[in-house]
Amino acid sequence: MDKKEITEEAIRVSDVSQHIALLIIGSGAAGMSAAVAARRAAERSGKDCSITLLERNARPGTKIRISGGGKCNVTHRGTPAELLDKGYLRPNEKRFLKAAFYSFTNTDLLDLLRSRGVETEEMSDGKVFPLSGDASSIVVAFEELLRESSVRQLFSCRIRSVEPQGKKFLVTTAGASFTADVVIVATGGVSWSRTGTTGDGLAIARALGHSIKDVSAALAPLYTVKPPPALLPGVALRSVALVATAGGRSVERRGDLLFTHRGFSGPAALSLSRDIGELFTLFGSVSLFVDLFPEQSVPELEEQLLLHARKNGAQMVRKFLQSCPIAPCRGAFALAAHGTIPSALLPFIMRQATLENDVTWSGLVREKRQSLLAVLKRFPLGNVREVPLDQGEVTAGGVTLAEVNPKTMQSRIVPKLFLCGELLDYAGEIGGFNLHAAFSTGWLAGTHAIDS
Ligand SMILES: Cc1cc2nc3c(=O)[nH]c(=O)nc-3n(C[C@H](O)[C@H](O)[C@H](O)COP(=O)(O)OP(=O)(O)OC[C@H]3O[C@@H](n4cnc5c(N)ncnc54)[C@H](O)[C@@H]3O)c2cc1C
Repeated sequence: MDKKEITEEAIRVSDVSQHIALLIIGSGAAGMSAAVAARRAAERSGKDCSITLLERNARPGTKIRISGGGKCNVTHRGTPAELLDKGYLRPNEKRFLKAAFYSFTNTDLLDLLRSRGVETEEMSDGKVFPLSGDASSIVVAFEELLRESSVRQLFSCRIRSVEPQGKKFLVTTAGASFTADVVIVATGGVSWSRTGTTGDGLAIARALGHSIKDVSAALAPLYTVKPPPALLPGVALRSVALVATAGGRSVERRGDLLFTHRGFSGPAALSLSRDIGELFTLFGSVSLFVDLFPEQSVPELEEQLLLHARKNGAQMVRKFLQSCPIAPCRGAFALAAHGTIPSALLPFIMRQATLENDVTWSGLVREKRQSLLAVLKRFPLGNVREVPLDQGEVTAGGVTLAEVNPKTMQSRIVPKLFLCGELLDYAGEIGGFNLHAAFSTGWLAGTHAIDS
């Protein structure tokens, strides 16, 4: 920490009384939500308690502001059960988040935002964004809610440690220390560390006796050993299946895939990145393939190609592929196509299948047809070099879920310690599920912290 930061911190911390009833660390989605919920719970039970929210950055909600490309996909349409099903692929995470998603639903969140003048709109795919298209409107709404809830906010204040001291906690920053009856840790994950998420909360939780599941990237781009050829970065494949294999295991995700300068991104790559990262850690090498026709099995696709070949013997295979819809909703050759094989990819498909550029259907011998089929169903994309942790939109791993009560977010190890948000060992899919989890686990923590 540099001198300037120490000075700023000392000045601000000196304003705070040395004892706080509820201290919340981290002013992101989970921390802000916890603070508002705590005040409401305190009012309901007639308690007059001091609530302080500490943030190491100079302002709240840094990650919310950059979420969804600055537009903030704040939650998702549907019932809590639908959100859990769509947003969380791992059963233990689904189970853990259930109480939080039912206690503070997307409707609760949207009502809260609307009460501060933030209208939202639902996209056809279920994602919900602020109507203004501006992520900072969500932060402004929470800032108002915090002011209204008499939550004391302290910025440029980085917590170094939390230690139990009798029935209280001793909380230390670089410049000061104070005590608190109840502490909520909402310090987020470890990716996008420039937003303030460097894993301090994990170190704090570990020092307090919690076990931490190793962190890894989720919703991250994939970097390959050999970057895609110069013509491909920027090319998108629609509704394909990305397949990753290592050590005899195989994982797959459907969706759009984007070639980048370093490897791959787009929904299919982001969604599969967590599994790929785990395979990479286990086996040290992961191979990537794309199935350009995920709706058809190899025999089905072969049958369709044969049918087409019989009727269009004079057509060049290359021309066919160029106009051929890939992965459409009603079969490979339906008119309502989702997309075509991009022209930039064609030479690579032809080369990989060892086809002459001008080969026609009637000139395509069986062996070459098999080779084309194999390439269309399993086009090699190279080997993974890295799933960069800092580039992950979320962090997988974190405080072990079994050590936190999912109905309250209270630690099962340290009484009166609550943990919420991305700090915990869950990671959702793209679609507003991660912010929703942060808001709802934060809400649950704040509500129960008051009664603890
Ligand atoms: C580029 C990007 C885009 C994203 N887009 C979306 C999206 O559109 N929809 C979606 O659902 N999710 C999105 N996410 C994920 C989502 O933003 C996070 O999952 C969510 O913000 C996590 O909330 P949190 O409160 O747990 O943690 P954070 O929002 O990370 O908040 C933690 C806070 O704690 C503070 N802190 C850390 N250590 C200390 C300390 N020692 N002392 C004091 N303060 C500390 C940090 O500075 C930070 O402000 C995106 C993430 C990224 C990086």
